[in-house]
Amino acid sequence: MKLTNFINGKWQEGEASYTAVLNPANGEQLAEVRMSTKEDVDAAVEAAVKAQKKWALVPAPKRADYLYEIGRLMKERKEHLAQVLTKEMGKVIEEGRGEVQEGIDMAFYMAGEGRRLFGETTPSELADKFAMSVRAPIGVVGLITPWNFPVAIATWKSFPALVAGNAFIWKPATETPMMAYEMAKIFEEVGLPSGVANVVFGSGSEVGTAMIEHKDVKVISFTGSTDTGSKVAELGGKHLKKISLEMGGKNAVIVMEDADLNLAVDGILWSAFGTAGQRCTACSRVIVHKDVKKELEKMLLERMEKLTIGDGMDETVKVGPVINKAALEKIHSYIQIGKEEGANLVVGGTILQDGDLAKGNYYAPTLFTDVKPDMRIAQEEIFGPVVSLIEVESLEEAIEVNNGVKFGLSSSIFSRDINKIFRAQRDLDTGIVYVNAGTTGAEIHLPFGGTKGTGNGHRDSGVAALDVYTEWKSIYIDYSGKLQRAQIDTE
Ligand code: NAD
Repeated sequence: MKLTNFINGKWQEGEASYTAVLNPANGEQLAEVRMSTKEDVDAAVEAAVKAQKKWALVPAPKRADYLYEIGRLMKERKEHLAQVLTKEMGKVIEEGRGEVQEGIDMAFYMAGEGRRLFGETTPSELADKFAMSVRAPIGVVGLITPWNFPVAIATWKSFPALVAGNAFIWKPATETPMMAYEMAKIFEEVGLPSGVANVVFGSGSEVGTAMIEHKDVKVISFTGSTDTGSKVAELGGKHLKKISLEMGGKNAVIVMEDADLNLAVDGILWSAFGTAGQRCTACSRVIVHKDVKKELEKMLLERMEKLTIGDGMDETVKVGPVINKAALEKIHSYIQIGKEEGANLVVGGTILQDGDLAKGNYYAPTLFTDVKPDMRIAQEEIFGPVVSLIEVESLEEAIEVNNGVKFGLSSSIFSRDINKIFRAQRDLDTGIVYVNAGTTGAEIHLPFGGTKGTGNGHRDSGVAALDVYTEWKSIYIDYSGKLQRAQIDTE
């Protein structure tokens, strides 16, 4: 199967170079994807500019009708989409279904915004004058997405963009183009006007750069690593683009001495080893009170040994492969780094090669103990199934350790003490805080994003996402029939 671009309502034809899409579970080739050029981006932007002018004039509730239809088709195809997702990305099928559901939820939620898109009415300081502010679409927006959530993140961005009256060009990650292809087929089937939704495949350096530099792309919404995000911000800043960045994390679960330890272990396992540790919100640090450290470690080890590893299409598997060989090597390099820094490798730390596992990219769930907060394994995003246990003596110290990294995406605390919980939710410097749950599990109607090196103040998902794709327009209507000067004719 050859995946080509969806531009101006058509599947792009003509000569192009293609690259293989591999199944991370077994190395098999699933498809080939077009590696697009700057000219392809130019064609998509030209179509989008034209289409957006008309799309912005379609009443928002009518725009929303397309989203209801997209949601309906996604729901109808949920199992098929989940299987495509698991094959190209590797996450276990149960999580694949969950991610598709997130996209469905987002479609219906944002469709509801078509009948809200609330602005404000407010009194004027002058007599016989009316004032209001409304959300206005911005124009053509560029969406750049990562491979670890190939559909959910795209829906967090494209659906608010659409309902607000923008047209978009979406560049998915080269590793996971199949979900974008499936979504483009849905955009085509629901009859979105040509040019409103465009998908251009290819590399970040070629397609991403061309989108950021194009004078007619007004907004860039990026999700990916902090290194790439800062490059996007630098280039986008030079071209005066509105840039929304959602980037890396180094998320921690805090386990206090009064926690329900069984529940804490459930939360740690799900958020550390789900998606093989490749979630931006993955738990990669466990900050544990010294009084329960030994017991928690023992319980964690017992449960880690029972984790089944393999192809995510097998319903019994709990931990799937990581995305590619480069990721395997990056994860593995941190084992040596951890050991050299003096951390204690308790379990894991190996690339799995037994039998069929050798065909895919599998890494053993790994636990380090005796980790100090400033070690590289406790500071840098490893993006794999590797957890560091850090011992602390108090809630204050736990919060300080949690906050002592450059990222600020997600954090969690397990405790039964309401005073500790309320202090923690106030003082944890992350965009998302969980109480008595792991670091993952965002719901689409709340804002998603992080502080510090994780973001630049914008949010995906929730009503907050509309702020990325709209401008506020303030409108004053004077019905006094005379010149009334603000701040002067107020007496
Ligand atoms: P990445 O930064 O390598 O790539 C992300 C996207 O940017 C891809 O589409 C890629 O092709 C593109 N890109 C690469 N170089 C570019 C450039 N110079 N200009 C424009 N675009 C460019 O990230 P990844 O490996 O695909 O994803 C994993 C990262 O994403 C992790 O750091 C993870 O924490 C982060 N992430 C963050 C969130 C969040 O919401 N905060 C969610 C998911 C993933």
